[in-house]
Amino acid sequence: MQGPKEFPKMREIYGSLIFDHKEMKQRLPKDAYENLVAAMEGRQKLDSNIADTVALAMKDWAVNKGASHWAHWFHPLTELTAEKHTAFVTADENGFPLETFRGEDLMQSEPDASSFPSGGTRSTFEARGYSAWDPTSPAFIMKSPKGGTLCIPSVFLAYDGSPLDLKTYLLRSIDAVEGAALKILKLFGNRGVRYVRATVGGEQEFFLLDRPRAQKRTDVRFCGRTLIGSPPPRDQKMEDHYFGSIPTRVLAYMEDVQRDLARLGVDLATRHNEVARCQFEFAPNFSEANLACDQNQLIMETMRKMASQHDLRLLFHEKPFMDMNGSGKHINFSLKDSEGRNLLKPSSNHRKNVIFLSFLSSFVLGLSEYSGLLQASVSTPGNMYRLGGHEAPPSIVSVYLGQAIDKIIREIEEGNCGEDMPAKNTMDTGLSKLPNIIAFDSDRNRTSPVAFTGNKFEFRAPGASQAMAVPVTAVLSVWAAGLEKFISIFEDRINKGEDVIDAAFCTIREVSKLSKKIRFEGDAYSDEWHEEAKRRGIVKAHTIPEGIDLFVEPKTLEMLERLGVFKKNEMESFYVIRMESFVKNVEIEMSVLRDMIWEGVLPSLSKQIILEKESFLSAKDCGVEGMDEWKKHIAKLAKAKLDLMEKTKELVEMRERMSKLSLRKHADVLVEESVPLMAEIRKIADSIEIYLSAENMAYPNYRSLLSLSA
Ligand code: ADP
Ligand code: MG
Repeated sequence: MQGPKEFPKMREIYGSLIFDHKEMKQRLPKDAYENLVAAMEGRQKLDSNIADTVALAMKDWAVNKGASHWAHWFHPLTELTAEKHTAFVTADENGFPLETFRGEDLMQSEPDASSFPSGGTRSTFEARGYSAWDPTSPAFIMKSPKGGTLCIPSVFLAYDGSPLDLKTYLLRSIDAVEGAALKILKLFGNRGVRYVRATVGGEQEFFLLDRPRAQKRTDVRFCGRTLIGSPPPRDQKMEDHYFGSIPTRVLAYMEDVQRDLARLGVDLATRHNEVARCQFEFAPNFSEANLACDQNQLIMETMRKMASQHDLRLLFHEKPFMDMNGSGKHINFSLKDSEGRNLLKPSSNHRKNVIFLSFLSSFVLGLSEYSGLLQASVSTPGNMYRLGGHEAPPSIVSVYLGQAIDKIIREIEEGNCGEDMPAKNTMDTGLSKLPNIIAFDSDRNRTSPVAFTGNKFEFRAPGASQAMAVPVTAVLSVWAAGLEKFISIFEDRINKGEDVIDAAFCTIREVSKLSKKIRFEGDAYSDEWHEEAKRRGIVKAHTIPEGIDLFVEPKTLEMLERLGVFKKNEMESFYVIRMESFVKNVEIEMSVLRDMIWEGVLPSLSKQIILEKESFLSAKDCGVEGMDEWKKHIAKLAKAKLDLMEKTKELVEMRERMSKLSLRKHADVLVEESVPLMAEIRKIADSIEIYLSAENMAYPNYRSLLSLSA
């Protein structure tokens, strides 16, 4: 069927705004093309002699597509993206316009680094920083209403080479896990494998609200979430939203987003309603880890821009509404080899399944030792309200493997190792039937922060607003650490002359015993699990600041340094940035809440009290009797007003007092005192919300905010 003319077919526009292989091949001489492809695959560095040729081809392509500027596009530690645009056209000495873009512009650029957070790695007077092209992610054109910008994905470094961005750490963790994975495959005798790649697919949840209504709420505008407001009684209980038909207005938005992303080579595979009203999800097809993280940034950016064109307000906050489902960013990950084989995919071949179980148990081993790093990676301000709440995993990190795998692992644990090891016979615990069993059994447990879901792991705790780079760096580092330990045991056994498969079985057995405590197959939402987790000693942190502390746990630092992912001082700086961001976030919420109470709620209450009093007096004039209830009602409103005045005063004083505290203490006091005080204020404000007449309501309420009719 022919679609309407104004909407181009996806396959026609797909990738039209990325400088992809097709464009490169057409526009570059053979040797330049081959060198560039090798650099993109991470096999060798880009030869600086061909940089000019590549730059010229890229510029011609971009200018033809309407771009007037170029920019190095990078991820500073703020978790957003940054770019500084430079025009292609400059005037030459005779005043004639000249289009330039040199190899050195492509390879490196020097944005002023002084206003990006460094967490203390760099003094302010050493403001120089430079960004360098990361050819493993393709250059693309970011369209704007009147033109476009050629964006060059880059890393961002301080003058001394220390990273000022998230990508550098991510790339290092990718190297660590890919190197370890290749090593283990070689030990298994897979000589033909040339490389291994980490693959990642991130599911993005979000809320969409009617923009004019959302903009009337100071909290939504400045904090991305509601600080007051009570949920309508009916909401979510109907459970009619999930997988229901997508509202037409939202669908139109999604279609525009999908088309723009298709042009950038981002292929959004699924879209659907989520659990809560006005909540939705997009999931792209997975890709190599680095690209997946860049693409998630593009997804978020495109979604943001498109929302205002549709008069919608997009929320990535982890918990925009009280007592409703929050938004996460599930991170699916695996490894694939140079033959395209997914290393976490069970097979009907016994030997391949032993390899599969080695990769699986290595991750579980890494996790049992360094679960703190995963918890740290998701300890963000927004997750404070989401994790452990309605429909979100608890912050205690455990892994769910599913009945079939759990059973096999347990049987392997109980088997023998050594002289009389009957590995190949009795230890074939149904391994060859694995794919079929898993297909039936795959992941019915949605309560676990980490789960094996049939052919990949899924990390469900990351928040919707987070950049993927940090949690992906965490899972890949943990996996690399697990693989290294696995390899050391495995290699020892092979060196002692054991058969490779026997040695692998015994290693799986040994590491699974070591990592038992992190495996949990039950309901991770239950109170029993919290008790059990305490007994197992895997509860690492109770609050977000304590979670952030886990970044600098000595054994985690030692592991990250050993793998070459973070140096100790780099992690210490990153830690400071994370802690500061937490503090700033809560502080902003405190001041916005105070403003909303004084600007909106208290005046509404006064108006309502006057209205009630006037009508009370009129009724009294008419001789109505037995009006005690009415009187009490007015008194209740007045009492609420007084309480709110007192509590917000306390909040302001608290903020002033805290300004003298050290960063770490400040964070604790916010959690222990400010957050509970904000909750008390909210409780009072929400308790009187239902008594305010529609005209006296200062802000659109939940019912109105959660309605998408224009
Ligand atoms: P569900 O909601 O059941 O978790 P989805 O289909 O919404 O499943 O999302 C699954 C995500 O996992 C998709 O982004 C998908 O591309 C990704 N994925 C699938 N296989 C792999 C893999 N081998 N490595 C990384 N990500 C994967
Ligand atoms: Mg999922």
